[in-house]
Amino acid sequence: MTHLREIASNVHILRHKVLDVTAALIVGGESALVVDTLSTTAQARDLLNAVRRVTDLPLAVVNTHHHFDHTFGNAVFAPAPIWGHEETAVLLGPHHGEPMRAECQRAYPDLAAELAEVPITPPTDLVRTAQDLDLGDRLVELRHFGRGHSAGDLVVLVPDADVVIAGDLVEESGPPQFDDAYPLEWPDTLAALLPHLAETTQVVPGHGRSVDRSFVQAQHEQLASLAWLIREGDQDGAPPDRVAAKSPFPQELSLIAVHRGYLHLNQS
Ligand SMILES: [Zn+2]
Repeated sequence: MTHLREIASNVHILRHKVLDVTAALIVGGESALVVDTLSTTAQARDLLNAVRRVTDLPLAVVNTHHHFDHTFGNAVFAPAPIWGHEETAVLLGPHHGEPMRAECQRAYPDLAAELAEVPITPPTDLVRTAQDLDLGDRLVELRHFGRGHSAGDLVVLVPDADVVIAGDLVEESGPPQFDDAYPLEWPDTLAALLPHLAETTQVVPGHGRSVDRSFVQAQHEQLASLAWLIREGDQDGAPPDRVAAKSPFPQELSLIAVHRGYLHLNQS
């Protein structure tokens, strides 16, 4: 049985064994907010059961970004409103949702059969930069600080609990993932988040243990140094593998970042 763990007053998290992805539950006086919905219908049903053992209040959902491990359980929560960034809705929409499903099935053959059955469900309630949600005696802030891990990263701030749920903009159990990322913008996005973090703030990453401000600061510095390497490499016409070799992150992942960075620099 899947269980939520209370990390602050009426803020609960669930670290799922598949991909070590984290979902969360924020309970207010009148309603509760589920943050991310895991990878499959069965996982989402487990999450919903765990939620219902904590609260019977009406639910809303928010997706931190479009990736399947954060959104493929959305349908289980219908007819709850699903908040997400405008780009998240596009990336789960008719043009991008099915190609993503196929790609995930190739990347995770063990999940392929379950992924095939998921009704891909984009957010119903869209955010561009900021949206506050009143859960009753508790205000939750949804913020898009810019692009980073994806085009539609949303951060969920719970000021009265001193908790920030960062999605995959911050990663703890593995390095940052660049497949759909904006490596040149990611440092600025974290720089915009940092002033919202106090020394005491618990930052919940998309994958891994909760971290603090200094961890986010350090990840910001690593991402900033990678972004500079990409800009420098582009100026010098350096081959991507030579740039990736200097990156603070693993080679293979960095190579993806360099390719995407070069692409973005040469688009504009
Ligand atoms: Zn992700």
